Amino acid sequence: AKRNGRNRYEDFRIEMDAAARKRRLVELDLRDAITCNQLRLYYQPITDAKHDAVIGYEALMRWHHPQNGLIMPIDFIPIAEETGLIHSLGSFALHEACREATTWAGNQTVAVNLSPIQFKNSGLVSVVESALASSGLSPERLEVEITESVLLDNTLGNVGTLRKLKALGVRIALDDFGTGYSSLSYLRSFPFDKIKIDRSFINDMQDSPEALAIIRAITGMSRSLAIQTTAEGVETDEQFRRLKEEGCSLFQGYFFGRPQPSESRLLGFAPV
Ligand code: C2E
Ligand code: CA
Ligand code: CA
Ligand code: CA
Repeated sequence: AKRNGRNRYEDFRIEMDAAARKRRLVELDLRDAITCNQLRLYYQPITDAKHDAVIGYEALMRWHHPQNGLIMPIDFIPIAEETGLIHSLGSFALHEACREATTWAGNQTVAVNLSPIQFKNSGLVSVVESALASSGLSPERLEVEITESVLLDNTLGNVGTLRKLKALGVRIALDDFGTGYSSLSYLRSFPFDKIKIDRSFINDMQDSPEALAIIRAITGMSRSLAIQTTAEGVETDEQFRRLKEEGCSLFQGYFFGRPQPSESRLLGFAPV
């Protein structure tokens, strides 16, 4: 059927053009974002089971766009990955997070997300080394978070890259655990320091026996492998209590604190 004289294919094509134009605009703006200092890291606390100490923070990127305001990672990280800009963004995140962590009164760790695309750059290890060297941060205080897709393609020697990072003293966490294809087997390919249980399981645990069973399997297995588990996306006291019972060691989520800029974190402003 024709709508406004257009057929379905033309509708589709017009939509695609609009999407492509939008992407192109974001890509152009994103180049400026890096040079014009529009990228910020927000920090979300990670606490221990007693909830009496913040043991670290995860650095999460935000884009303060001069016209469009605050832009979330879901709206620019994928485009950065497609265009290769992720290498600059990732280098910024590593340098900035390490520098920031040296200003903290405690010796908390700082966790930085690494995109699988960053592993295609043979310079990744030297970027990490240079972030550590220029900030003076002790390597044990830096943690990198990767997803299993990094391990999916071993032709790139990604496991070798992880070993080099580990040899520097950096901690390696496996993020979004439980959501991928064959997560369990990845635990054999590399000695991870930490597993982060994906937020979707925490979100569903009270209504879904399956979600709870998976959490139980992950914590049980991590215990036998002596790997720490972080529960992501903990929003309620009840979830916190249940996850403690299941043996999770570390906790992150709105219940403990939202990601916020370091200035407000230090000054105790309301979370953003
Ligand atoms: P992620 O690594 O799984 O990060 C956790 C996400 O969950 C963050 O979303 C965080 O704000 C959100 N979150 C934390 N606690 C709660 C909670 O209690 N409830 C809910 N509903 N959400 C919670 P955010 O900041 O939007 O980041 C989304 C994703 O973007 C991240 O997921 C990560 O994959 C990616 N990302 C963020 N910053 C960077 C970066 O610097 N580099 C790379 N490569 N990726 C990044
Ligand atoms: Ca993460
Ligand atoms: Ca995660
Ligand atoms: Ca996630």
